[in-house]
Amino acid sequence: MFGTSGIRGIYGKDITEELALKIGNVFSKDNLFVARDLRQSGVTLSIAVSAGALAAGSDVIDIGIAPTPTLAYAARAGRGIMVTASHNPPEYNGLKLVENAKEIGKKLEQEVIEEYNKPIIRSDIGDFSHNSEVIEEHKQMILGMVDRKLIEKKKPKIIADCNGAAAVITPYLLSELGCKVVSVNSSLECFNRPSEPNETNLAHLLDIVRETGADFGIGHDGDGDRCVIIDEKGSMLPFDVQLAMMIEHELERSSNKRIVSTVEASLAIREVVEKNGGKIEITPVGSTYVGDSIEKNNALFGGEPCGEYIYSGGVHVPDAPLAVAKFVEIFCEKGKFSELRKKYKENFIAREKFQAKEKHNTVEKVKKSLNIDGKVRDDDGVRIDEADGWLLVRASGTEPVVRLTMEYKTKEKLEKRKGEIKTLIEMHL
Ligand code: MG
Repeated sequence: MFGTSGIRGIYGKDITEELALKIGNVFSKDNLFVARDLRQSGVTLSIAVSAGALAAGSDVIDIGIAPTPTLAYAARAGRGIMVTASHNPPEYNGLKLVENAKEIGKKLEQEVIEEYNKPIIRSDIGDFSHNSEVIEEHKQMILGMVDRKLIEKKKPKIIADCNGAAAVITPYLLSELGCKVVSVNSSLECFNRPSEPNETNLAHLLDIVRETGADFGIGHDGDGDRCVIIDEKGSMLPFDVQLAMMIEHELERSSNKRIVSTVEASLAIREVVEKNGGKIEITPVGSTYVGDSIEKNNALFGGEPCGEYIYSGGVHVPDAPLAVAKFVEIFCEKGKFSELRKKYKENFIAREKFQAKEKHNTVEKVKKSLNIDGKVRDDDGVRIDEADGWLLVRASGTEPVVRLTMEYKTKEKLEKRKGEIKTLIEMHL
């Protein structure tokens, strides 16, 4: 039922009102916070979640459209359900279950699955209320975590493409910080572009930033837990460069030197942690693992090279509006991103995906037939670290695909290894 980030699937087939009602019923405690992204199906699904929780006797606080980190902020001392399929297409939807500002772990997921199979819980019906003030409170939390004086002095011009739930917070946050903001795709009615913030889906934003002379641009995913940065020349920063930049910024400002990232962490990320006297903790892919590890290791910051950033002083799910405010701070302190990015070594990186009927089976078979010459880590697919690069073959947590990620110091080596591994994966699909 659960993937790497909650329950997700096609609306009407995998994700139904019946399922939402039952999850709301078994997961709610004394109270339950409920929020959703823009998807049309989110309307009925969030009502179903609320109905299930109310029937179980819980009080429901409906936030309406809000990003996942805002829902996590609301549920910092309680439980919440976010109705979203994150960056997946509009026909998808899903539920992210949050407790104490963090997505729930495997143990609690197991408990939910066990309860799910029992009859519905009925008790005195709880109270239902709306509360969107928590969006303002989350914004205030963020404002307290950056250097406002520095930002007010520089007043950068930013193009914000929220295309989803973050439209209720990011443009206002930037404006309150003193930035000049131009908001595009900020409708709360529907998505205006595919939800995943990547170079193809953000092609228009690259043009707008370049043509309007903005200092930079930002793009979010559907539930506002991812962000990408476009430099003033209209070029998107690679995810691992963004992450390396953020890690360096955080390490420079704190005596806590513990950083968390995942098996997808590139050489640039490992190098920047080392160079700044940090210590890196590596987890399987998924913000749940990163959030857990931050708490367990009392770490400063954790991030994944997909635009997800978790700050120890904030909520323990990726907080993209906060990350945007931090990038504004970086810009105001260090200048143009087109210049700053040159500081971070860009190796040759390839990311491929393969449709797979039995994704876990494929990964197992590839693992067995790999000719391994290097350090191996296999708690999430298989990652091989070699002298001049690394590769990772893993099953996606949210889609029926096997992912291949690799990074090498030379293009020749990357292409050679890619050819070999691709053949091996295709043999076992
Ligand atoms: Mg997301």
